[in-house]
Amino acid sequence: MTRKGEECQVRIFDEMSKYGYEQLLFANDDVSGLRAVIAVHNTTLGPALGGCRMWPYESEEEAVTDALRLARGMTYKSAAAGLDLGGGKAVIIGDPRKDKTETLLRAFGRFVDTLGGRYITAEDVGIRGEDVEIIHMETEHVVGLPSGPGAGGDPSPVTAYGVVCGIKACLEQVFGDCSFSGRSVAVQGIGNVGYSIVKHLTEEGAEVYVTDVFEERVDAVVKEFGAKPVSPGEIYDTCCDVFCPCALGGVINGETVTRLRCKIVAGSANNQLKEDKHGDALEDLGILYAPDYIINAGGVINVAEELCGYDRERALRKAGSIYDRIKSVMEIACRDGIATHRAASRLAEERIAKIGGIHRIYVPQ
Ligand code: NAD
Repeated sequence: MTRKGEECQVRIFDEMSKYGYEQLLFANDDVSGLRAVIAVHNTTLGPALGGCRMWPYESEEEAVTDALRLARGMTYKSAAAGLDLGGGKAVIIGDPRKDKTETLLRAFGRFVDTLGGRYITAEDVGIRGEDVEIIHMETEHVVGLPSGPGAGGDPSPVTAYGVVCGIKACLEQVFGDCSFSGRSVAVQGIGNVGYSIVKHLTEEGAEVYVTDVFEERVDAVVKEFGAKPVSPGEIYDTCCDVFCPCALGGVINGETVTRLRCKIVAGSANNQLKEDKHGDALEDLGILYAPDYIINAGGVINVAEELCGYDRERALRKAGSIYDRIKSVMEIACRDGIATHRAASRLAEERIAKIGGIHRIYVPQ
């Protein structure tokens, strides 16, 4: 191995040690062209669950970094959601539009199976429900099946319900009352989750502003629920009680944060803060931030339900507890004098420490 290679290896172990990663695995299959990475961050609470992302990474390093970062995020998300699951993630290097074949997905399924259940996969960017069904041909350790016995189906309505419950906890904190009546919410992104949120909010009496890059999605909710259209660029400047990001990550950034005219930021999008400092900026501006991975945990709650026999009523009931989790985050923030995005990490770490006691590593039976 070259000197450069040795330096790279040392950096990986340093990174794993710094954040407590348990395992990093690589798969290569020349027949199918599979090149995949599985990162298992922490299995103190249970097997590591996290989706598989297929993306044309420009370098192997970029793929490994993404797998590690996403796996760690899943540990925090599941721990904070009260699930008995750890955090893991897989990435497949390739373009999902050109390189995704049945042979490749089945080779990935066999790779997942070699871990015997320490890692449970699911869909993510570039992997769809029908791909999950193909992976399932090779391994039982996969969730998020779109249909069939025990399948959780589309998680979006459960995610949306959890977000609405989380917003109620924020309204209560800021206005002393969790009712949507007389409150205004600006929803960015009228996709699967955004649509369901707009439906809930209008049914509960909120005034709802909506935007999307696809006009027909905006038109549909204007017609169906009487929502008020706003252009994608104007949504940050819209005067409202709640800004609800349900599109992309990084929307709370140096350019947008001072434009916000709301009291609360609470929505389904992953990685809403471009950097941690933007969470601190929200705090300084007196805007309450509902940490994304706490409020959007309905999705992981829904797929995790498949592990014990799927029941939508139970999934919705568990997603309803996001109201209490947001309250717990606000209590920790107040107790420790920190911003809510930092309190969310503390909530997850405290649960892992309490339940885990001494660090238990999950070993499949
Ligand atoms: P989606 O792709 O169905 O919807 C996203 C919508 O955002 C699309 O309609 C898109 O046109 C719109 N959009 C993209 N860029 C925009 C912009 N700049 N301005 C306005 N609109 C824009 O996705 P989804 O499943 O509804 O998920 C929404 C977000 O919630 C994503 O960040 C996703 O990662 C996150 N999330 C979803 C779930 C789930 O259950 N689906 C669970 C957890 C987190």
